[in-house]
Amino acid sequence: MSVAMKNLKTFPGGLHPPDNKQWSADKPIEDCPMPDELVIPLAQHIGAPAEACVEAGELVKKGQLVGTAKGFVSVPIHASTSGEVVAVEPRPHPMGKALPAVVIKPDGEDAWLPGLQGGDPASLSPVELRDRIRDAGIVGMGGATFPAHVKLSPPEDKPIDTLILNGVECEPYLTADHRLMLERPEAILGGIAILQKILGVKRTCIGIEANKPDAIEQLTAATSDLPIEVVPLQVKYPQGAEKQLILAITGREVPSGGLPMDVGVVVQNVGTCTAIDDAVRRGLPLVERIATITGPGVVEPKNLRIRVGTSLQYLVDQCGGLKGEPAKIIMGGPMMGMAQLSLDVPATRGTSGLLLFTSENVPVRPEGPCLRCGRCVRACPARILPTTIAAYARLDLTDEAEAYHAMDCIECGCCTYSCPAALPLVQAIRGAKGAILAKRRKG
Ligand code: SF4
Ligand code: SF4
Repeated sequence: MSVAMKNLKTFPGGLHPPDNKQWSADKPIEDCPMPDELVIPLAQHIGAPAEACVEAGELVKKGQLVGTAKGFVSVPIHASTSGEVVAVEPRPHPMGKALPAVVIKPDGEDAWLPGLQGGDPASLSPVELRDRIRDAGIVGMGGATFPAHVKLSPPEDKPIDTLILNGVECEPYLTADHRLMLERPEAILGGIAILQKILGVKRTCIGIEANKPDAIEQLTAATSDLPIEVVPLQVKYPQGAEKQLILAITGREVPSGGLPMDVGVVVQNVGTCTAIDDAVRRGLPLVERIATITGPGVVEPKNLRIRVGTSLQYLVDQCGGLKGEPAKIIMGGPMMGMAQLSLDVPATRGTSGLLLFTSENVPVRPEGPCLRCGRCVRACPARILPTTIAAYARLDLTDEAEAYHAMDCIECGCCTYSCPAALPLVQAIRGAKGAILAKRRKG
């Protein structure tokens, strides 16, 4: 089946970077072998980090609680295999500093905690289903890592009528969600049924970019008798950003400073859906995920099922190693991912991919003065003025940056990517957002 680009839904602004998915799109998901050590960070989500509830020397089973949630916007953390806790201490974290982690030496048995039990969603109430999702530590698997149970608890004055499943995967290089849609459609549909029951929505859509015609075809066939629409979308970055996805599918615009629930919508990633299905029907906490290990710097790109806490170096080793000294390491996609200084950090629940570039693939563009060409403005999907906000940010004029809606920036990187003067616009705007938040906290 081919999906014609013409007349497909999309959003204003955005870009068409080369998608570079060809290296891994046809690679079936492989199980990553067991590493010698798992470093499981207690901060893997938006919100309060979990607090360790095990000590060095304890034996744990796979799926056992090793960190308890600290508050509503937080999630528990579980052991990704069975073995001995050898340390509870700060370890290098993808955020760029040492943060508390539970370190496990695997016993090789990979034995689940006895008593983990699934349930029939039909016999569980919406509240019970949401509690299972919370207790399993489910977070947004697209990389945002926002606790799923929080999104599924809208206040009474924000009725939700639409559920959107995000199968867009618009970041170049990444193919983990694409493979998941091809290889585990039944788990995605199982997760959708659970979400529909919790939210009581009238409309459910799965948004997929038109560069994944096989996934569109498969899910269209699988949902033909279900109250679910598969919506092919134009291939454009950042089509998978929440606000842009909602606008493309429903025509509703999330207001400045607002959330999807303000327009009656909840968005969940397709990977989150499979994790929800595993949590409810099989009783499994979130201890593994699919990640794409790719880029011109890695010998054999792959889609791997990885245990949370596996080191990035170990993941690269499973893909034949590096082609040379890496000039750039990115956790996640090239547009919104996090640059890493070293491979000596663990993969987390939010690790959708790992990209490796050698120096030939990282062009150095000298920064110049703004040419007033307006490309950044045309590319900005948030319809704000990147060049103006960045200029205020560079002058520490926080109030002016806020007045120009800096907080509506979704940090997609389209402005920086499109700028012929190579100005680091998104970095400057991110700095302004931090300053605005710090000012708001002070009151
Ligand atoms: S200003 Fe923000 S939202 Fe707009 S293009 Fe730049 S990074 Fe994206
Ligand atoms: S794209 Fe770059 S050079 Fe063009 S207006 Fe924006 S900041 Fe200036």
